[in-house]
Amino acid sequence: MDTASLVINRRESIMGWFSRTSKKEIDKKSEDLFVVCRGCKSHIFKEEFNKNLKVCPKCNFHERLTYKERLDLIVDEGSFREFNAHISITDPLEFVDGKGKYIDKAAAAKSKTGMNEAIVTGSGNINNIRVVLGIMDFRFLGGSLASGTGEKILLAAEHALRMKRPFILFSASGGARMHEGIISLMQMAKTCAGISKLDKAGIPYISVMTDPTFGGVSASYATVGDINIAEPGAMIGFAGRRVIEQTIKQKLPDNFQTSEYLLEHGFLDAIVNRSEMKDYLHKVLMYCSRKKS
Ligand SMILES: [Zn+2]
Repeated sequence: MDTASLVINRRESIMGWFSRTSKKEIDKKSEDLFVVCRGCKSHIFKEEFNKNLKVCPKCNFHERLTYKERLDLIVDEGSFREFNAHISITDPLEFVDGKGKYIDKAAAAKSKTGMNEAIVTGSGNINNIRVVLGIMDFRFLGGSLASGTGEKILLAAEHALRMKRPFILFSASGGARMHEGIISLMQMAKTCAGISKLDKAGIPYISVMTDPTFGGVSASYATVGDINIAEPGAMIGFAGRRVIEQTIKQKLPDNFQTSEYLLEHGFLDAIVNRSEMKDYLHKVLMYCSRKKS
């Protein structure tokens, strides 16, 4: 390198010290490096957060997972076979609201998530025990329950019945999907009817509630498990806190509608940390199979 280029390089690097980094760039860089915990607002290194299964190492806040992340945590590698992936939304009401058409929103949700509906169903192994799984994803229109979602749950329950395999369903939902009106509400009865057949056949159904599980989902298949469990801190309820407070004209406790509150009041059988979920489910499955034999 000649002297002239050395001088230029030196000048550029000195200028670099004084050049301004915009706030946007700083925010982008910090977003790449850190996540802000929604529970305690701590900044955590993204790598550490991801390694810890998206659980805050400081306050144990469980961040929401995509269906794929959840699947990777729960099933043995390479054992999952999805079924009914083609089932998608219907638009019987040709629903339009102030923010546009349902069909367009659904198309955006599909391209964002790579899913056709708010749930993925299939068969997989949990420490070598074959089960039928349903995993909801809140990113798809708030994990809402509609005709496609209900149909997939029913078919999964029927598959579990045919194959005599336990059915495990992870809920993450804001409730029934208003865009499909009463058809969405009908799914509450339809899914429960499917699940009740498992009960009659003595096949275990385990419901795992994750943040959030609300509305028509909490009022149907999410709370009718032989075993109902939840992740720590998950918000679980029917109507929202404000609606209830306004209706009953009373202040509700701070931890109202959290999984801890529900456990205390007998609505849950256990709260299970994400890191222990697979082993916990395996233990339950082993217990169920021993009980049967
Ligand atoms: Zn935290």
